[in-house]
Amino acid sequence: MSQPTVAIVGRPNVGKSTLFNRIVGERISIVNDTPGVTRDRIYANSEWLGHPFSVIDTGGIEISDEPFVDQIRDQAEIAIDEADVIVFLVSAHSGVTDADEQVAQILYRSDTPVVLAVNKADNPEQRQDIYDFYSLGFGDPIPVSSVHGTGIGDLLDAIVADFPAEQDEPEDDSIKFSLIGRPNVGKSSLVNAILGEQRVIVSDVEGTTRDAIDTKFTDESGQDFTMIDTAGLRKRGKVYENTEKYAVLRAMRAIDRSDVVLVVLNAEEGIREQDKHVAGYAHEAGRGIIIVVNKWDTLEKDTHTMSDFTNLIRKEFEYLDYAPIVFVSAKTKQRLNVLPEMIKTVSENQNRRIQSSVLNDVLLDAVSVTPTPTVRGKRLRVYYMTQVAVKPPTFVVFVNDPDLLHFSYQRFLINQLRKAFDFTGTPIHLIARKRK
Ligand code: GDP
Ligand code: GDP
Repeated sequence: MSQPTVAIVGRPNVGKSTLFNRIVGERISIVNDTPGVTRDRIYANSEWLGHPFSVIDTGGIEISDEPFVDQIRDQAEIAIDEADVIVFLVSAHSGVTDADEQVAQILYRSDTPVVLAVNKADNPEQRQDIYDFYSLGFGDPIPVSSVHGTGIGDLLDAIVADFPAEQDEPEDDSIKFSLIGRPNVGKSSLVNAILGEQRVIVSDVEGTTRDAIDTKFTDESGQDFTMIDTAGLRKRGKVYENTEKYAVLRAMRAIDRSDVVLVVLNAEEGIREQDKHVAGYAHEAGRGIIIVVNKWDTLEKDTHTMSDFTNLIRKEFEYLDYAPIVFVSAKTKQRLNVLPEMIKTVSENQNRRIQSSVLNDVLLDAVSVTPTPTVRGKRLRVYYMTQVAVKPPTFVVFVNDPDLLHFSYQRFLINQLRKAFDFTGTPIHLIARKRK
């Protein structure tokens, strides 16, 4: 499950976020001429010639109130902490600058391989004009144009060549889960309380991510769990650890390594934008999700409190309609004992496989109850369905024309699957294919 990580570093405006978008293959972060513009996406997964990897745009992690040089230093240190390969980006338009040299100084101190890329080499002359950059001491500079897309293949070849040799991780059938949420929602308290409830404890194991320490435990039924370490749980005392963007980055990396994600909310404070951000990532990544409302002890409750809160969550997290909600208190230990069992159930649901024959009975019933729609005079025909993957359960439905399977009917089919089988806590992916 763990894959190499690439971090892009360089002074502002060299084109880090443009390169990030180019590598990730979508236009997901906003490019702007103003240095310091807020950019959202700083972490994503990508692939080159069969090598999956994660990419971080360290330029998106800004530590407010810090002078420019300190920002650059922190970003380079984040790259050193988090990445297996660092792309050091400079600009053909400006030659070697003082700020470039400062970045180089920091990168010298680490053993992490560095690939030097000269961006904005948009034309043949500029591509010739890269020799100055040898002075930075990172070997052959690779000319690229992130805007035009030239040189990106050569850059990716160089990056992949520096990936660490694949390690055979020991076979491990524990369920991996993480607790994700804003600072102060009570993640650390929950971690300690959950572990405190377990009789058979508990060993720290080296995580695959740098500096991560995972914790293993076994519940009463003999099921093994691995709790994935996340930001906020074990601080190393670095300045950037208090920034929101860094916390989000660590959360996303923990989600990548998890089977099941516990999205922790604070009953006292309700739901904030930031809660949705990481939850959305877990959803997109196809992870099992449980919504945990902590600090339930702090509310004055009447008979409506729980259903009101449930409604609020269902409204704010519309796309998480499949996620179970549990109201707990790390302080009083209320309902904490149900968590391991829930995690186990969600993990089983994520791994559930349905026989094609059973699946097609459900499909047949669904289509006879709610006939397929007609779009622009053409009727959708649904022939059969088969499950092609687990984690998350992924189904291919064969149809006469995939364009006719609109969102609403797709949603209807997914709901029929949820009615027929227990997929609580897991997203379901449905792919339409044209029957040949
Ligand atoms: P960052 O601050 O390092 O993330 O830089 P940005 O990605 O925000 O880019 C800064 C500016 O450089 C933007 O105006 C981009 O359009 C421009 N830029 C990025 N890559 C290229 C390139 O390959 N060629 C040229 N000519 N401009 C580029
Ligand atoms: P984290 O930043 O998400 O790891 O949050 P912490 O676990 O450090 O908790 C933040 C604060 O909330 C601490 O003062 C905790 O004692 C308090 N806290 C955590 N869980 C609960 C709870 O269930 N009830 C109450 N009343 N306070 C809690």
